[in-house]
Amino acid sequence: MCGIVGYTGYREAYPILIKGLHRLEYRGYDSAGVALLDESDNSLSIYKAKGKVSGLESIADSRPHSGCIGIAHTRWATHGLPTENNAHPHQSENGRLTIVHNGIIENYAVLREQLKSKGYHFRSETDTEVLVQLIQYTVDTTGEDVATSVRLALGKVIGAYAIVVIDRDNPDTIIAARKSSPMVIGIGEGNCEFFIASDASPIAEYTTKMVYLSDGQIALCRRGEELQVLTLDNDLVKVKVRNVKLDLNMLDKGGYPHFMLKEIHEQPSCLRDCMRGRIVEDGKRVVLSAITEHREELLNARRIVVVSCGTSWHAGLIGKQLIEQYCRIPVEVAYASEFRYSDPVIDDKDIVVAISQSGETADTLAAIQLASERGALVYGVVNAVGSSIARNSDTGTYIHVGPEIGVASTKAFTGQVTVLAMMALAIGREKGTIGDEEYENLIAELLSIPEKMEKVLSQDGRIRQIAEKFRDKHNALYLGRGINYPVALEGALKLKEISYLHAEGYPAAEMKHGPIALVDEEMPVVFLATHYGLYEKVISNMQEVIARKGRILAIVTEGDETVRNMVEDVIEVPQVHSSLAPLLTVLPLQMLAYHVAVSKGLDVDQPRNLAKSVTVE
Ligand code: GLU
Repeated sequence: MCGIVGYTGYREAYPILIKGLHRLEYRGYDSAGVALLDESDNSLSIYKAKGKVSGLESIADSRPHSGCIGIAHTRWATHGLPTENNAHPHQSENGRLTIVHNGIIENYAVLREQLKSKGYHFRSETDTEVLVQLIQYTVDTTGEDVATSVRLALGKVIGAYAIVVIDRDNPDTIIAARKSSPMVIGIGEGNCEFFIASDASPIAEYTTKMVYLSDGQIALCRRGEELQVLTLDNDLVKVKVRNVKLDLNMLDKGGYPHFMLKEIHEQPSCLRDCMRGRIVEDGKRVVLSAITEHREELLNARRIVVVSCGTSWHAGLIGKQLIEQYCRIPVEVAYASEFRYSDPVIDDKDIVVAISQSGETADTLAAIQLASERGALVYGVVNAVGSSIARNSDTGTYIHVGPEIGVASTKAFTGQVTVLAMMALAIGREKGTIGDEEYENLIAELLSIPEKMEKVLSQDGRIRQIAEKFRDKHNALYLGRGINYPVALEGALKLKEISYLHAEGYPAAEMKHGPIALVDEEMPVVFLATHYGLYEKVISNMQEVIARKGRILAIVTEGDETVRNMVEDVIEVPQVHSSLAPLLTVLPLQMLAYHVAVSKGLDVDQPRNLAKSVTVE
């Protein structure tokens, strides 16, 4: 979760580190810290703050902050409260080693007791401090250098980590290591400086030459020397430098007050990017290279299992309906966190589709590693290029919607659904389970989505007014059927995530088996009631809510007078093929959650307790 930035080179490290932390703010965090090593006198300055990076900045700005080597961190607390004292960096007791860490050291309690019995004292409640003390203990007892001691200490550690360590006695070197938590090293000018971070966004403006560490690797970044990468077993690794370019404009708010609003509004252009080069021949064919390359496995698949979490899991539920309908392959959608511990019945006849925006979701990564071990072909549907899930999949399709910064996912969701729709069309076509007319019609409909999205987005002002009615409520119910049922789940999740209102998504007909007991004049109920096979049934479910004085907001197809005459508020979306309805119906729900949160004065882009990239299980 959270983030790491490090720098060693010839420039002042502080501005690079602080800017980098700001770039990582989107990941969600609760405290921040920075350590700078000034080689002129080997002095260390460490500053920490609970809360935002801007708070850290105002502390550090007023005190000495020079040095060409430094490390910085945004913490998402797992062990110990989010206090200044528990914030990183942490130091070994003698002050020689300083560390920042993302992840969890699972056996920290045992290690801590062992170190205590050897006379080490602890100043924080964190697992991270145990790790830095263990490294120091290894230096003290083996007489090895710090890099070797990091390697030996990591051999004793169970858990997940991305760490960066600096050594007061070697003020030109940063040691970085990773296991199950991302870490990328940017090689700067003349190969003489290194930028280290938990993703490429803080370093993209300095270099395009990136080295992604793999699990169990340690990097020695020594100013003025070639990057050296070793395994935990001390084998030298051939360094693979990738050329990674990020569109820096995408990392800014572009005139919007929040990243989330910007990302909601850029969905039409993002989906055009997502479909570009994949819908070809003047809109007559869908070509996904992964499907061409793995045609035989896909056509003969006994089953597809989707593994994902949160919003990506909702996209998976939509993908299930599309793939089952157009490819006639049974699809299961599993929470990655459950799948990985369920001893799943899975083998080489199965395809496992992993969906993840960040490509770093720890549970999804573990799920695909398990699926691979059991012989399944792993197909990644990922946004972040070069991420761990992308690299650990056998094949896949990037969603290509650009970096998503707002913690509550919006454009990644519609990108995922678009990729899943294209997959269903491409596989269905190869299998012959979709007719020519339907195939061409669906492609045309997909191509029309961005323009139709623009129409929905133009109703922002109206949705803002409706949001006022939700502001003082405590609960909301979201109901839909068929392809709109996962949209109900997603709408409820958005509201929970950023406005902290309790919301439940339910299949509309299931409501009478329980949640209807909650309905009264205080309860806002959001219905997804676009025109498709179950429309009349949804109208009946609406009547049931109206009979109990529930207050309804309905998302309907343009021109629907029936529902308009029945309920308090409606938002219209353009007519679209029923299979693609979620790409339009989810937009008003994203906007609604956004406006409710804004009207409550909440931090939309970094909601409390949430992290963007969930790299702990
Ligand atoms: N487990 C560490 C802590 O609680 C690191 C958490 C993080 O990834 O920020 O301090």
